[in-house]
Amino acid sequence: MPSASLLPENDPSVLFTTAGMQQFKQYYTAPENALRDFGTKNVATVQKCVRTSDIDEVGDDTHHTFLEMLGNFSFGGYGKQEAIEYAHEFITKELGLQIDYVSVFGGDKDIPADNESQIIWQKIDKNLKIKGHGKEDNFWGPTGKEGPCGSTTEIYINGVEIWNIVFNEFYKTREGAYNKLPVLGIDTGMGLERLLTIVQNKKNNYETDLFNNEKTREERIVADHTKAALFLASDGIKPGNTGAGYVLRRLIRRAVRFSKAPLGKKIQKIKNTYSNTYMLDDKGEIEKEEKKFRETLEKGMKEFEKRTDPFILFTTYGFPIELTTELAHEQGRKVDLEDFNKKMTEHQKLSQTSSAGMFKGGLQSHDPKTIKLHTAHHLLLAALQNVVDKNIKQRGSNINEERLRMDFLCNHKLLDEEKKKVEDWVNDKIKVGLEVVRRDLPFEKARKIGAEMEFGAKYPDAVSVYFIEDKNGGSVSKEFCAGPHVLNTKELGHFKILKEEAVSQGIRRLKAVLE
Ligand SMILES: [Zn+2]
Repeated sequence: MPSASLLPENDPSVLFTTAGMQQFKQYYTAPENALRDFGTKNVATVQKCVRTSDIDEVGDDTHHTFLEMLGNFSFGGYGKQEAIEYAHEFITKELGLQIDYVSVFGGDKDIPADNESQIIWQKIDKNLKIKGHGKEDNFWGPTGKEGPCGSTTEIYINGVEIWNIVFNEFYKTREGAYNKLPVLGIDTGMGLERLLTIVQNKKNNYETDLFNNEKTREERIVADHTKAALFLASDGIKPGNTGAGYVLRRLIRRAVRFSKAPLGKKIQKIKNTYSNTYMLDDKGEIEKEEKKFRETLEKGMKEFEKRTDPFILFTTYGFPIELTTELAHEQGRKVDLEDFNKKMTEHQKLSQTSSAGMFKGGLQSHDPKTIKLHTAHHLLLAALQNVVDKNIKQRGSNINEERLRMDFLCNHKLLDEEKKKVEDWVNDKIKVGLEVVRRDLPFEKARKIGAEMEFGAKYPDAVSVYFIEDKNGGSVSKEFCAGPHVLNTKELGHFKILKEEAVSQGIRRLKAVLE
């Protein structure tokens, strides 16, 4: 099967395609459709993927924002025996590589050990070292609170995990039960960049045919980001201020910042590298964005060096605050985000527009789970401000049926005890049952009472503000927001933080769920 687009077609829960199985998700629960759609239950792909969660790591030997995933998939076709045999044959015979060891699921209180895989491996090679691991390492999914999941077996070469084979065997229910799926699904993933480094006997990914032996961190960031940008733009994404477009814009701008030469030559080189496989054509979008940004950069850098106020850098020179924080960090300086936010809020007041069409903040999906998570999102922001730092501001958000995600300005990684306190704060507000009330107010009044605004958004003269009211006539949260929300926080269930990580210098990202 051909690679799916980097922009997922029917999956609003993710910004980009990040794994080979993504385009096949639905076939694991309805395997008969695979036969109808592909004429077979067994397929294989080389899937383009973009992952931005490790963007700060790009520049080392192994992390990329763009990568290709090799994978074979079966929806009730072949089983564990064949999947493991194929993997062994491909690695040892086709590629002629020596396996260090393999790992299998060692079992836990929910699910017994995967003895079947262990026996299959032993039969193939009785000298093979087999390690048993728990759910942490050898169990995949579900991606949300419910869905297909199962044990995995992994192949290691030179101490590096090279291939992950997932056996989609169970459906985990919301209540936590593992029910057997009607048929076994196979889902495998092997990163091409990592594999090639081993096959070509290189020291790092940049020495392989997929790159041009970039040595410094800066060169590598330029190579990686330009490649990701070219693939994204070739899939029809344009640089913009939201969603996928915003990520593309940031990738281009970061590449420009680290590249002394114009990106044109680099773009041509990448096109040549992939010319046998992909038709790459960004329609000049990258160089258009580059030209604009170089002008901004030139003027802004001069001002940055003069230590001009970050707020002036942003409003007068269009110099993004992320860039100011990143540059300052490299020089061992800190940016006063509190001061910047204060000035931004003032500025929003001055530059407000009555164009109601620009009033954002609504939800994309109105199903009950998403609405609950939306209310939890408001509580979370209030919790961060109450528990961690009163100056924390939201910088981006994304909510789907499964989880909420919030980006916020904060200069440090949250401590475990801070995360615990935030959870407790939110769960306390859920437990006592607070009413959620919408009020339509003039913009000026809403601003005066300190309602949270979306960063950089422009608002009309009349706005709607959601209050989560406390029991004393005050409120624990007030946000400019178009809703919808639950009526009372007691509807929410139990709030839990899944993950906290850096998005870029000074911006943290939190993912959380309701159980
Ligand atoms: Zn909201």
